[in-house]
Amino acid sequence: MTTLSVFGKPASPGVAIGRAYVLGLSTTLPEPPEEFSGPFNAEAEFEKLTQAIRAAKFEIELVHKKSLSTLGAEKAAIFEAHLMIVEDPEMLDLTRDRIFGKAEGSQGFETARLAYSKVADFFVTTFESMKNEYMRERAHDVKDVSSRVLRKLDPNAANESSIESIVSDVIVVAHDLTPSETATLDRNHVLGFVTNVGGKTSHTAILARTLEIPAVLGLDSITQKVVTGDWIALNGDTGEVFINPSQEIISQLNEKKAKLEKEKAELARWVGKPSVTRDGRKVLLTANLGTVDDLPLVLKNDAEGIGLFRTEFLFMGRNSAPSEEEQFRSYKTVLEAMKGKPVVIRTLDIGGDKEVPYLNIKKEENPFLGLRAIRYCLRTPELFKIQLRALLRASSFGNLEIMIPMISCLQELTQAKAMIEEARAQLVSEGVKVASHIKVGIMIEIPAAALIADVLAKHCDFFSIGTNDLIQYTCAVDRMNQSIHQLYDPGHLGVRRLIAMTAKAAKEAGISVAMCGEMAGTAEFLSFLVGVGLDELSMSSSSLLRTRKQLAELSFKDSAAFASAAVNS
Ligand code: PEP
Ligand code: MG
Repeated sequence: MTTLSVFGKPASPGVAIGRAYVLGLSTTLPEPPEEFSGPFNAEAEFEKLTQAIRAAKFEIELVHKKSLSTLGAEKAAIFEAHLMIVEDPEMLDLTRDRIFGKAEGSQGFETARLAYSKVADFFVTTFESMKNEYMRERAHDVKDVSSRVLRKLDPNAANESSIESIVSDVIVVAHDLTPSETATLDRNHVLGFVTNVGGKTSHTAILARTLEIPAVLGLDSITQKVVTGDWIALNGDTGEVFINPSQEIISQLNEKKAKLEKEKAELARWVGKPSVTRDGRKVLLTANLGTVDDLPLVLKNDAEGIGLFRTEFLFMGRNSAPSEEEQFRSYKTVLEAMKGKPVVIRTLDIGGDKEVPYLNIKKEENPFLGLRAIRYCLRTPELFKIQLRALLRASSFGNLEIMIPMISCLQELTQAKAMIEEARAQLVSEGVKVASHIKVGIMIEIPAAALIADVLAKHCDFFSIGTNDLIQYTCAVDRMNQSIHQLYDPGHLGVRRLIAMTAKAAKEAGISVAMCGEMAGTAEFLSFLVGVGLDELSMSSSSLLRTRKQLAELSFKDSAAFASAAVNS
């Protein structure tokens, strides 16, 4: 088999090599006509059939493996029979004859789908008419296997490959993965993933980095080039993806993988060390959290707190909103796990690429400029109140700070704060314990907020700069739009100036200033961010130790001089 190599957007670092598992609608095969009409390529039809059989066989192998552990060997044996059926040489020969128009009584060529379904029908009817009950039962197995193959030949049929059914080590191949699908990926089985769409600052990419799953996104048509069961190798640092890689490529990537693992192991010696520059400037290094399942990695990478808990993932991938009790339990779990270290929990930030269908938000022309985050919460006080009550109830279990996303003007901040106070008064009157002082901060992710940071700073306890959005709004580049991604520039002078203005306003008002966008964990910007005076950097936990090491090599004095020059030109 020849190796095919394609390039996409490197979204999450690391190397992964494994078998492909194609999710969602099967777009791997063009829809065949039911009957032959017009020019016909029998060879191509036969190739479709063999691909479909290969993909079905791989799925059956996965089901077999899972059933061995869940049902035991005796019950799992049924799938061994399915494996024999899917590769049955007689079925294959008869189908081939029909495709090539050589079958007895044949009317001419047949598509792979038509030919295979006729052959499968023939086998089913034959088994069903047998006297022996055991043989009659085999008809069910043929139906089961053949419908699996036929689904692979029908792009309009929903492919049953779903995230939940992943049971062995695979590389997920999908047109797109929603952030909630990504959040539920099983790290034990998903070695990596590749998608047609998406870019580095999509929430899918952000979560992949948090989960430490190598990923390449924005490959355009990878789902059309790969079928389930193909070998895939990906390099999440370069964006290169190999389909059916040669032994030589596999060896090279394995070498790279071993090198990365060695580097990672060496970083472990930074656990427990302070996060300071070599001239003594302390910068708090905290983690971004998607779900409570990320906590083990946060603790392993020695985060000095949580700088951003994206609570919207609690609301996604389900049919109704989480109750106050459910939210309270999640927040309490995180606060307790962090044992008194600061935990910044951000209130619901839905909208943009984070869709929550049951909230029935009207379809918008420009969702990133629409009813997002705090705008939605203030318009839906019943929902917001539930979250605020859950947060305040959890506050007595750790060091909670509440953060409001997408603030664009002072009025939104004062309204949100009033609602927090209202929820507090209500809880206190109910006799519920609430921490006496909870810091309330805001995200600076809209240029207007950065421009009035001096005003906003007088009304909150901290800022956290959300560069993922700040860059898209400053440069007017949709963070999801791959065709203009080269204009999405964290190093843009305009972005640097807004960051510097925000930091200056915070200093003058005596409040702290953090950054929790992806820029915070990007090595090339560390000197600027430290130099401009940020007190805290919150990032994917996988970047924490590397940043601590890099910080120890920096001089704050030199960084400050560098940052001050960097906002002037
Ligand atoms: C940001 O915009 O930088 C941010 C951290 O928030 P999100 O990526 O969730 O929009
Ligand atoms: Mg944001």
